[in-house]
Amino acid sequence: MNILVVEDDARITSFLVKGLKAEGYAVSTAADGDEARELAEMPGGEYDLVLLDLGLPGTDGRRVLQVLRARHPALPVIILTAREDLDTKVWGLDAGAADYVTKPFAFQELLARIRAALRTRDQAVAHQLSVSDLRLDLLTKVAWRAGRRIDLSVREWSLLEFFMRHPDQVLSREQILSHVWEVGFEPGSNVVDVYVGYLRRKLNTPGLPALLQALRGAGYRLLPSDAPSSSGPPP
Ligand code: CA
Repeated sequence: MNILVVEDDARITSFLVKGLKAEGYAVSTAADGDEARELAEMPGGEYDLVLLDLGLPGTDGRRVLQVLRARHPALPVIILTAREDLDTKVWGLDAGAADYVTKPFAFQELLARIRAALRTRDQAVAHQLSVSDLRLDLLTKVAWRAGRRIDLSVREWSLLEFFMRHPDQVLSREQILSHVWEVGFEPGSNVVDVYVGYLRRKLNTPGLPALLQALRGAGYRLLPSDAPSSSGPPP
């Protein structure tokens, strides 16, 4: 867990760094708004949480928060500031801060708020399904393969979700029909084959193996992409 501390008061920074490190967090620091803004504009993945002072030399902390929200929507930011007027607090929370702590603060309380913000972030991650290089966001209903966004119709999305909840299992046409289509189709209907075909084409990515395998007479299977994609004998 890496926490970025944005704070221009060196005494507070050193107090936070010492305390957070003692709790097992890795800590990075930025001492003014311009430095914080530069870090906020980087591609990211480096930080798990940001503690942000609002009153900063250089770029204002409010602007830093806006940049953080735009570039890293999932990164929790806790505002840590002496400004305790209600308007600023409301503004900060509306602007997407996970929480707001007023100086002076009790370190134990700050730690509890950090843990709470990290839990909320982890719950958001739990709204995703992943099978090898395939990722499905259950809230936004968008799929990604190897970083490429794949837009799906409602039915394709339900179909992919069903496959991703049962990776590497052979799913019969009947199973797929009863889970993905609420009303029973005629047993002879080819609607499953048609939609698996649509999905297959959307998932196909040049240079990557096909993920949806057809097993004659049995149904379909979503393969982890490192498994052989042909139904031939193993090498
Ligand atoms: Ca300050």
